[in-house]
Amino acid sequence: MECPNGCQNKMKITRVERIFYKNDDPIVIRNLEMHVCPECGCEAMPLKSARMVEDILRGQIKPIGQFSAPLFQPAQPVP
Ligand SMILES: [Zn+2]
Repeated sequence: MECPNGCQNKMKITRVERIFYKNDDPIVIRNLEMHVCPECGCEAMPLKSARMVEDILRGQIKPIGQFSAPLFQPAQPVP
């Protein structure tokens, strides 16, 4: 796949972990195939991955595990 920025090198296929939002709830998709340009770092999602994300967001694929985002809270003032 050619880089949309017109770089010389072909884009490489890599697997990434991404957070998407389903009804404002964060969900993590692991091992998602992405094309990445080694020159400018531009990313493009292949159709195969886009379809998978769509299916997951539509609830057609069941999650394999639970995800909980880290919880932060402001430090308490020292009494
Ligand atoms: Zn590029």
